[in-house]
Amino acid sequence: MRAPSAAHPFGTDRQGRDLFAAMVAGTPLTLRIGFIAGFLGVGIGAMLGFVSAYYRGTLDAVIRGVVDIGLTVPGLLVLIIIAVSLRRGLTVDQMAIIVASLAWLNPARTIRAQVLSMRERGYVEVARLSGMSGPEIIVKELMPNLLPYLAATLVNSVSAAILASIGLEVLGLGPIDSPTLGMTLYWVNFNAALSRADRDHPGRLSRSLLPHGGPGRDRQPQAAESDLTTDVLSVRDLCVHYDTPLGAVKAADHVTFGLRAGERLGIAGESGSGKSTMALAILRMIKPPGRIAAGEVKLDGVDLMTLSDEEMRRVRLDRIALIPQGSMNALNPVIRIKEQIADALRDHRVRMSARETETRVRELLESVGLRAEVADMFPHELSGGMKQRACIAIAISLSPRVIIADEPTSALDVVVQKQVMETLARVQENLGASVILVGHDMGLMAQFVDRLGVMYAGKLIEVSPVREIFTRPLHPYTRMLIASLPSLEQKGTFRGIPGLIPLLRDLPPGCAFHPRCPQAFDRCLTEEPALLEKHPGGWAACHLT
Ligand code: SF4
Repeated sequence: MRAPSAAHPFGTDRQGRDLFAAMVAGTPLTLRIGFIAGFLGVGIGAMLGFVSAYYRGTLDAVIRGVVDIGLTVPGLLVLIIIAVSLRRGLTVDQMAIIVASLAWLNPARTIRAQVLSMRERGYVEVARLSGMSGPEIIVKELMPNLLPYLAATLVNSVSAAILASIGLEVLGLGPIDSPTLGMTLYWVNFNAALSRADRDHPGRLSRSLLPHGGPGRDRQPQAAESDLTTDVLSVRDLCVHYDTPLGAVKAADHVTFGLRAGERLGIAGESGSGKSTMALAILRMIKPPGRIAAGEVKLDGVDLMTLSDEEMRRVRLDRIALIPQGSMNALNPVIRIKEQIADALRDHRVRMSARETETRVRELLESVGLRAEVADMFPHELSGGMKQRACIAIAISLSPRVIIADEPTSALDVVVQKQVMETLARVQENLGASVILVGHDMGLMAQFVDRLGVMYAGKLIEVSPVREIFTRPLHPYTRMLIASLPSLEQKGTFRGIPGLIPLLRDLPPGCAFHPRCPQAFDRCLTEEPALLEKHPGGWAACHLT
């Protein structure tokens, strides 16, 4: 999703592909749809228009009736219905035929009107009297006179067909496997939605998050099971799907873990691994086209997935709070900080006088290391670190049981990053809350969390106490993530993980990591590894371990 640059004039998509190249490749395909649909539409329309106007009578009434009804119904709606019923395996030519199915209506009506005005002219009457048949008169006398009009109609029809096809494709109803202009737009939009829901960033960790129980017998490979009697938060088989014409893309796939009271759990992984999606799903904040397809999220024994929208709205902030990434965007720039904190309190019907609210706001600000005067300031007057602390102040305003921090230090420099994390650690300890830290910074995870979960392609693939995971990681992917950290011993040497995270809509069979795994063997190509406890507290999904 790179922005436009000299190398990529239109930027790139989520997989790094050049969008200008996609447009160049897609233009001939879209033109093909336009020309096929335009020629078919004008051809059929002209034939019916000629016949209808020349012969009149019952035939004319029938054709005119069909055309009038056809033009009354919203064309795009009809095309959507046709495309939806045929969309699987649709080709470019079939797409053109779908568009042409309505493209003949307008030409039929306008050409009929033209022929009506011409059929009474003298030369047509002469032809008729000279014994020429109806089809002969149409072909030899009428058509040549209408050629300029047909050419103009054709141009209009081609451009209308192109617009109609792009309209359908942007809705995901086009030839999925062809990079037409509309399908390119569809996938760009789709990937942008995925990226928004799953913005990835680095993070780090500190105490114990690992599962106690074993995965259920009838369930799919999972992350860390939890002891439901002691866990504050219990996530089981959480699945988030993004619906596409090719089927559901699984952005989070049967994610299971538990969070203990006072625990700090890190969730790490590359961009697109599903960690932010999973965090937002816990808060029921997934937006369409995403949806929570299955799973259970119990907070103190109450399944959040069964609450009404209003009940869930009250639980957020009060029982489980989010510290979002990008504090710049999370705070309203034209409302003073104190109003934004007070708004959260009022929204949850906390009854306080104006003076008590003012006092509470100042207490909250001081608890996150901000001066009381910050209450009267606007967000644009604060630095990035101060804004992030203001977000933490809002998140803890109702003393939640669980705080989810989604890349809370992204875009901050390392010094401010450290201060913000120290603030978060302090307020968490004061509240006795549990924290889920989502991020991709393994160094940060190492310093902050108790247990660390690693996600890959929508699944938890390892969960271990942080000390364990850094000293004896169980999964090859975790090992490579740790090895990619800059080291003092190997200054200037950076070892990234080769290859890209796979497309969620096109995951490889077997272990999803096998195309990038240096230790992959035959079994990895066909059999998906289950998440199993490899040693007490250490869970991994890998055939090797
Ligand atoms: Fe590598 Fe195979 Fe383990 Fe997957 S299951 S991480 S491919 S060794």
